[in-house]
Amino acid sequence: MLADPRLRAAAQRLGHRLVHEVVVATLQQVREGRLAPGQAADAAVAALPATASPLGRVINATGVLVHTNLGRAPLSAAAVDGLAEAAGHTPVELDPATGRRGRRGQAVLSLLAAAVPHAEAVHVVNNNAAALVLVAAALASGREVLLSRGEFVEIGDGFRVHELLTASGAVLREVGATNRTHLADYANAVGPDTALILRIHPSNYAQQGFVSSVPVGELAGLGPPVVYDVGSGLLAPEPVLPDEPDVTTALAAGAALVTASADKLLGGPQAGLMFGRADLIERCRRHPLARALRVDKLTLAALAATIAGPTPPVRAALRAPVAEIRRRAEQLARRLSDVDVRVVDCEASVGGGGAPGVGLPSVALSLPEELAGLLRAGRPPVYGRIADGRCWLDLRSVPPTEDDVLAEAVRAAAARSSDAG
Ligand SMILES: *Cc1c(COP(=O)(O)O)cnc(C)c1O
Repeated sequence: MLADPRLRAAAQRLGHRLVHEVVVATLQQVREGRLAPGQAADAAVAALPATASPLGRVINATGVLVHTNLGRAPLSAAAVDGLAEAAGHTPVELDPATGRRGRRGQAVLSLLAAAVPHAEAVHVVNNNAAALVLVAAALASGREVLLSRGEFVEIGDGFRVHELLTASGAVLREVGATNRTHLADYANAVGPDTALILRIHPSNYAQQGFVSSVPVGELAGLGPPVVYDVGSGLLAPEPVLPDEPDVTTALAAGAALVTASADKLLGGPQAGLMFGRADLIERCRRHPLARALRVDKLTLAALAATIAGPTPPVRAALRAPVAEIRRRAEQLARRLSDVDVRVVDCEASVGGGGAPGVGLPSVALSLPEELAGLLRAGRPPVYGRIADGRCWLDLRSVPPTEDDVLAEAVRAAAARSSDAG
């Protein structure tokens, strides 16, 4: 079988070991009488993985636009091109004009600075958690960081921002109450040991009722630098999400430093963005930990193309008119008329990236629940959500360019379901 030209070509592309594994598994099916010997080569070719990486592409039909378990923001085509181009040798730390060593990622930093003119300086690290580690280590080691009791945030998988700060050497000083924190709480806590006042945007929960927090502008008047973790990475206000903070507004209000993720609503690769006062950014940049938290060339390339290029998929999904999503759903349902499919109105959400509790009007294809597992096992795998005893494929989180592939995946899953039945 390894002499089959298609499998020989695959061994060049995927490596001999991967192709060998597929052939062995196929021959096992023949031995068990589940496959005719004459079909073995075709079956092996069909079973080959798309790439040598086990992290394959899936379709996110969960309706959660920024799904941390599915890799958060999908990159734009421009960003994918950018990172493919940078994958070989690229002058990531070289000044092409002089041929000498240059500032790492200078072109990317310039693009970010141009996108946020309020920032005196910009720095990029591995993720937002890394940005907070660097801030704590470089600016608050052994000194106090004031944090409201309403902003002790667990970001996911058991990790908590305040524990990250203390692990980086800062001393936490809690102010206010869970539901209400006032300017006087901060003012009473400020002293000679205060290094920073930190505000963390509650990006994965919302408080309602008898609640209040202090705007960044008021905190800025207290003296110590105010660091604002805005979370989602919006560089400017987003009309669809009026309550979501953004970097420009936070700096204009007086924040000394703003940190954010690049792979949430900004729609780029995983990275942590830091904007603000030049002296503070420089101290972070020169701290020894900065070297351990730096980003690689692929991230820098994809980030640059996200900033400079066309609207990334997450932003397009956020802004898509619901009438357009309904039109796609009805078209898909017509194409799948031989399948038990209904078109249902639903609500999508931003997800771990921000805007907790905000429902985005959307439309889903509703399928029999037993298709959920078959869709996840398909090619490409499709992830929906279970609602009302059905499997819903929410189209707001599916880029329109994937509609054809989605239709084929549903058809294949339905066919396997009726085979099994
Ligand atoms: C997502 C988030 C983080 C963690 O960011 P990563 O980029 O995942 O490290 C920290 N703070 C807030 C407010 C967030 O929303």
